[in-house]
Amino acid sequence: MNHFEVRGGELHCEDVPLSRIAAEVGTPVYVYSRATFERHFTVFRDALVQAGVVDPLVAYAVKANSNLSILKLLSALGAGADTVSEGEVRRALAAGVPGERIVFSGVGKTRGEIAFALKAGVSEINVESEPELKLVAQVAEELGLRAPVVFRVNPDVAAGGHAKIATGKAENKFGVSFAEAARLYANASNHPHLNPLGVACHIGSQITDLAPFEAAFSKMVGLVESLRGEGMSVERLDLGGGLGVPYFNQPDPPSPVDYAAMVARVTKGLKDIRLAFEPGRVIAANAGVLLASVIHLHERPEGRKFLVLDAAMNDLIRPAMYDAFHDIRPVKATDAAPVVMDVVGPVCETGDTFTRERALPPLGAGDLVAFMSAGAYGAAMASEYNSRPLVPEVLVDGDRYAVIRKRPSYEEMLADEIPSDWK
Ligand SMILES: *Cc1c(COP(=O)(O)O)cnc(C)c1O
Repeated sequence: MNHFEVRGGELHCEDVPLSRIAAEVGTPVYVYSRATFERHFTVFRDALVQAGVVDPLVAYAVKANSNLSILKLLSALGAGADTVSEGEVRRALAAGVPGERIVFSGVGKTRGEIAFALKAGVSEINVESEPELKLVAQVAEELGLRAPVVFRVNPDVAAGGHAKIATGKAENKFGVSFAEAARLYANASNHPHLNPLGVACHIGSQITDLAPFEAAFSKMVGLVESLRGEGMSVERLDLGGGLGVPYFNQPDPPSPVDYAAMVARVTKGLKDIRLAFEPGRVIAANAGVLLASVIHLHERPEGRKFLVLDAAMNDLIRPAMYDAFHDIRPVKATDAAPVVMDVVGPVCETGDTFTRERALPPLGAGDLVAFMSAGAYGAAMASEYNSRPLVPEVLVDGDRYAVIRKRPSYEEMLADEIPSDWK
């Protein structure tokens, strides 16, 4: 459920008409619903608790939507943060997420990033390879600390809506094998500067079926049991993120309640373990839209119609990168018969196409449209490609809204560039 609805013939975010935001902030602009973000986090966490999972660490995947205001409101609800760079650790800390709720993941953490995270007191460093374990041990020794490490295991399970977001197969770059995990865990257990806490997996994103999760989680439970059988202490099992969301016209994903029931069933036999989760998309995707204006409708003599928007692939790259589908809704509702058109942006790439041959209500210059389900991997993946200023973000709360990232001016966009004085 989300809080984007048509009222009085016009699409609203909570109690604010999107046309008001377009008039006052301009387009393109991301618009988020605070109530939807809060609801999605609460539904996810409560589903786990009600299924019997004791004190889950729900570490929101910062990369999905990393705006400080979003992190702040989730942190206030008790969310942790799953981070993949020093920048994200800093964002989480700046938003008030305490170190003990921060998970630091990623296949290529640098020495400097590891040092920063250890000093910040993160809850776990998810180690993805043997060379990384060595680096963490070195940095911890230099700092005179014991690094809390969790081994990210690649459970070799196929999952995920698109090859570019599947992460749990042996051919992907993520994590160590089960055999390596056992060997590295034993090494770490004997190391004075490493504190192995447990194991983790994250098998992909936009997963719309419980079967691959269940297959992976069962393997992880087996791993915990075998590590414990060898006398090692395992107190944490991090099950990652990846739960899909209902994008329009796509198969319905499992609900958080069904997901939580499966988790509780698969992990029931494990005692004295804290479960961690890293949901991103399921919290953020349907809590935001990208609002854009139509520049014009270009009709080719052969009959193909191109709706040209002021938003482009640099603002929302998912269609170009993953062939992702976004429902596109006119802000002013209409009963007029639909017209088949391609929806494109102004960037000089054929890939700057949001959709081909979609039946949409008749639209023309100045009309507003909203890309639904754009709260995750939208603004966070935006760039200035084609020298287009970074897209701003707005957060709605009831009948008020705040600009939570402003649109940079052209002067600001150029300000960091230093012309060389070479002749
Ligand atoms: C991207 C990522 C997530 C979040 O995935 P979603 O599909 O958005 O839930 C969680 N954990 C790790 C390690 C990730 O890389």
